[in-house]
Amino acid sequence: MTTRAAAARRVAVRVDGIVQGVGFRPYVFRLAEDLRLSGFVRNDTRGVLIEIEGPDRSVELFLRRLPGELPPLARVERTGVAELDPTGGEGFVIDGSDAGGRALALVCADSAPCPDCLRELWDPEDRRHRYPFINCTNCGPRFTIVRGVPYDRPLTTMAGFEMCLACRHEYTDPRDRRFHAQPNACPRCGPQLILVGGRGTAGGDRIGEAAALMRDGAIVAIKGLGGYHLACRADDRGAVARLRSRKRREDKPFALMGADLRALGELVELDPITAALLPSPQRPIVLALRRRGARVAPQVAPASRELGVMLPSTPLHHLLLEAARTPLVMTSGNLSDEPIAYEDVDALERLSAVADAFLLHDRPIHVRADDSVVRVARGRPLMLRRSRGYVPDALTLPRPARRPLLACGAHLKSTFCLVRRDRAWVGHHIGDLDDAATRVAYAEGIAHFERLFDVRPRVVAHDLHPDYASTAYALEREGVRTVGVQHHHAHLAACLAEHGSTGPAVGAIYDGSGHGLDGTVWGGEILVGDLCGVERAGHLLPVRLPGGDRAARQPWRMAAAWLQAAGAASALPPESLRRAVPHEQWETVCEMARRGFSAPWTTSAGRLLDAVSALCGIRATCTYEGQAAIELEALADVTDNGAYELPVGGDLVIDPRPAIRAALGDVDAGVPAALVSARMHRALARATAAACSAAAEQAGLHRVVLSGGVFQNRLLLEWTTAACAERGLDVLVPRALPPNDGGISFGQAAVAIAQGA
Ligand code: ZN
Ligand code: ZN
Ligand code: FE
Repeated sequence: MTTRAAAARRVAVRVDGIVQGVGFRPYVFRLAEDLRLSGFVRNDTRGVLIEIEGPDRSVELFLRRLPGELPPLARVERTGVAELDPTGGEGFVIDGSDAGGRALALVCADSAPCPDCLRELWDPEDRRHRYPFINCTNCGPRFTIVRGVPYDRPLTTMAGFEMCLACRHEYTDPRDRRFHAQPNACPRCGPQLILVGGRGTAGGDRIGEAAALMRDGAIVAIKGLGGYHLACRADDRGAVARLRSRKRREDKPFALMGADLRALGELVELDPITAALLPSPQRPIVLALRRRGARVAPQVAPASRELGVMLPSTPLHHLLLEAARTPLVMTSGNLSDEPIAYEDVDALERLSAVADAFLLHDRPIHVRADDSVVRVARGRPLMLRRSRGYVPDALTLPRPARRPLLACGAHLKSTFCLVRRDRAWVGHHIGDLDDAATRVAYAEGIAHFERLFDVRPRVVAHDLHPDYASTAYALEREGVRTVGVQHHHAHLAACLAEHGSTGPAVGAIYDGSGHGLDGTVWGGEILVGDLCGVERAGHLLPVRLPGGDRAARQPWRMAAAWLQAAGAASALPPESLRRAVPHEQWETVCEMARRGFSAPWTTSAGRLLDAVSALCGIRATCTYEGQAAIELEALADVTDNGAYELPVGGDLVIDPRPAIRAALGDVDAGVPAALVSARMHRALARATAAACSAAAEQAGLHRVVLSGGVFQNRLLLEWTTAACAERGLDVLVPRALPPNDGGISFGQAAVAIAQGA
């Protein structure tokens, strides 16, 4: 007995990271019981606090085993161990959530059903056989059902469902997989499905009936995790065409959902990275090359060589896809340019003109979250939209903030970012702030995150653009210090900070538009600097933007501007545009470009690619943002090795005029658009690498960042990266955050912190 007392040791273990609501405490409990240690584990404001006591050897074993057998959703970022005086206590306990008023650390992202739950879902003997809301500590809804903190059932949208005895037993047993699984439920006590607009023919099998409706060509609105989807058969031309016209969405591709990888493999090429990404717990939409002969209606993704595909993200989707026996279109349940519908009344009202039936359920959605979108480039995932499944997992900043901070993001593809110390919570994709309903969702989202993560911002960072709704929001906040951050500097900073770097680096930042320091529209920038500040080392040759914002929707205007700049404009539009553009309008726009009337200067790389797209006759007018450049890329013949002449001047001005003249010559000579596209992409990639190399040499640097929305273009990203590597440059590209304006808020935060805010 005396030897046991002599060897007793007590330590406190602090664990930071994603350790709450993911089964971490029961995991610790089982480990401690296994090793016969006494003490406790509890959630607190920072993460998890453990105290254990027992023989030295067992304590050592505990510390060694702790990081090795973590629950699937847990992620440990830091641990700290401190020695304490033994107390001689007996037994190990799990302390209830700390309700001391302060927010608990990390609410985690929604997760697709885990393998254990799927096994139960399909098991006829299991009490949750075919139950659409099955979940456990290792999976299920999280972020979208949390109303407040602490993350406990009463503060989720599950509060209204009282657990039955069997569920409660699981919930309170630390040895059970469902211990403290807040959304725990079963067919007896949990959420139920509702089918509106069905024919009542399937004997209460609502999923079977919804699937049958779709098999017959119907459009069904389906309530998912973070909002509604509109669904129909992917191979039904009539249904997809109806969906397009009812939704008033002309060309923007629809995403598809397939039952499993085998089903998706018949639609797209599954390279190993795509095949690993699709079944990840985040279940993003992955853009992948369409397979020849894929049984998909042409209206699903017109003018695209890719299809956006995903696997079921909830048990309901698993059951639905099984019943449908064919891949389904799964597009967000909104009319064009409106935020995704997420409240039942709202959805029924807004979508009644689009959907033939509604498959609903009675578990409310508290936060809307669109599907996330990823593309594979250079053999690695490239995030295009970071939302469901990823949000609100925190990112780590390279330097901690001295005071709590909010960064307001940009205007299109807006996100916000809240910071406490070195933790940054980038919010879900909100969308374009032109729309009043979206602006409300934006402000509500910020307020929700402030409560969830207990951040009361004292500093607010924003874009320099005076007309962005996010800037207006920032300037209206009271009692805070505001910090304006230049748009392209924020793009550069976001990429550096995501990779844990503070710079310095050279940045080639290419996008559609951003407010420049000289008041003109920037978008083809070669920057040199760090998180704190940048200098503009070079840029694309400025041209006119005839009609301002209208030029982004009507790429033919940019064709006119570039032809004008290149001295190649004539009174008539080029042959390729003659049918799409009225001659008088062409003349007016050329005149605007020549005289600078209603035509500000721009260095936008996005608008340059728009101009080429229009010049090739691919797209004279857009129906969604970036369409012209997206279709130009999609069509490029990558086997062509040619490149136009695109010189970089001594002052690092990248001059596309010779390339524009050469492209016009090719188009007039009947060279296919696929070749013109490839030659222009290659020319721009080489010129960009040359400019970066020159800027790097001047500054004595080797690191180059490629970011901005234009680098969602895989061709340009891959070719520019290769050209930079050939010049001995070390290339960084965004990974965890999108290169587009969805990453701006995080970059603004990094800059504001570096500037001492
Ligand atoms: Zn599970
Ligand atoms: Zn139950
Ligand atoms: Fe941008």
